[in-house]
Amino acid sequence: MNWSKQFRIKPGRAVRLADRDAGWTDGFKDKDDALDALRENVALMSELQNLLYAERKHALLIVLQGMDASGKDGTIRHVMSGLNPQSCYVRSFKQPTPEEMGHDFLWRIHHVVPARGEIGIFNRSHYEDVLVVRVHDLVPRAIWKRRYDQIKAFEKTLTLNDTVILKFFLHTSRDEQRARLQERLDDPAKRWKVAPSDFTERKYWEAYQEAYEEALTRCSTSAAPWFVIPADHKWFRNWAVSQVIVETLKGLNMKFPKPTYNPADIRIT
Ligand code: ATP
Ligand code: MG
Repeated sequence: MNWSKQFRIKPGRAVRLADRDAGWTDGFKDKDDALDALRENVALMSELQNLLYAERKHALLIVLQGMDASGKDGTIRHVMSGLNPQSCYVRSFKQPTPEEMGHDFLWRIHHVVPARGEIGIFNRSHYEDVLVVRVHDLVPRAIWKRRYDQIKAFEKTLTLNDTVILKFFLHTSRDEQRARLQERLDDPAKRWKVAPSDFTERKYWEAYQEAYEEALTRCSTSAAPWFVIPADHKWFRNWAVSQVIVETLKGLNMKFPKPTYNPADIRIT
């Protein structure tokens, strides 16, 4: 089964999030079944990362987006846990600094994209500039409206220069967000994760869903596809993200580079 296809948004297809079940878990008997599959994928990702690094032909950029408490941090913790930190890093994008604000919105993004051989993971991304910025009118409509085309052109440039881009929208339901926010309030080990603003932000749920729908619809391209991952069940989310990464890396048909010397000629003294 090609799972990537299952979650991928076909270019030009209008996305309606309400029609997609955030609690979908097809393909598994139970949670343990999925945990086994995740463990296998984590091991495969480690091997494939090693090949990516050795070959240095492609960079891999993984973009994670989703509502508050959708599990961006958890995905990084559980799915990326087997990766070698030597050629992998995470960038989190918060409110832009004054210096970043002085530049175009892609400036802070472009200089931290992964190099060939590396895996870069974005916890939030340039999409915030058509999400939070749109929902809260942080710039005039005419300005954010132009950004979809700029994002597509930027991502096209990256892919034409050997960067493989995978963009994951962690699709959670409003009820699940409520439960997770409540849990963060109740659990002393999780309280640090929430700020009062997370609770007020929830009021903008519909506006965010609309903003996401437009971003997913307009910016899912064959070169840089969006994947909508059912994310109400953490175990399914983790497996699904790992599965798309594994399928994509396998599809690159990577090979270890041939040595530029004849190993038989070398005598180790
Ligand atoms: P966590 O809460 O799990 O630690 P987070 O990504 O929510 O992670 P916060 O510091 O809570 O981190 O929030 C970062 C905030 O920065 C988010 O509300 C996000 O929408 C905002 N942000 C990111 N990029 C931009 C941008 N370009 N313009 C304005 N706000 C942005
Ligand atoms: Mg937050």
